[in-house]
Amino acid sequence: MTSRPARGVIALIPEACTSCMICVQECPTWCISLESHTEQVSEEGARRPRSVSILDRFAIDFGLCMYCGICVDVCPFDALEWQAQHDYPSNARTGLVQETERLASWRS
Ligand code: SF4
Ligand code: SF4
Repeated sequence: MTSRPARGVIALIPEACTSCMICVQECPTWCISLESHTEQVSEEGARRPRSVSILDRFAIDFGLCMYCGICVDVCPFDALEWQAQHDYPSNARTGLVQETERLASWRS
């Protein structure tokens, strides 16, 4: 179990995220939104191109999040982490949906 700072937020490390969807499926409040697409990557020496998931959008609705930490715990790639930051840009309900860029800006 990963400890979390009081009133913390969840930061995203985008380059570590493989778009595997595990956090999305395990989140009890369905407050994580993820969009991705697949690209074929050719690597030198490889016999055929490899399919790679490219993350297009990762967002957390902190108005629905209950700060259980399940997403952080289940991510196999350590792409989510707790941070003490808890300033949101808006008090409005829609302002609680935090997109990829802001989630990534919270990383340590
Ligand atoms: S902390 Fe819990 S409720 Fe919030 S995004 Fe993660 S899994 Fe969902
Ligand atoms: S579990 Fe981790 S790697 Fe998988 S989609 Fe969520 S953040 Fe990305």
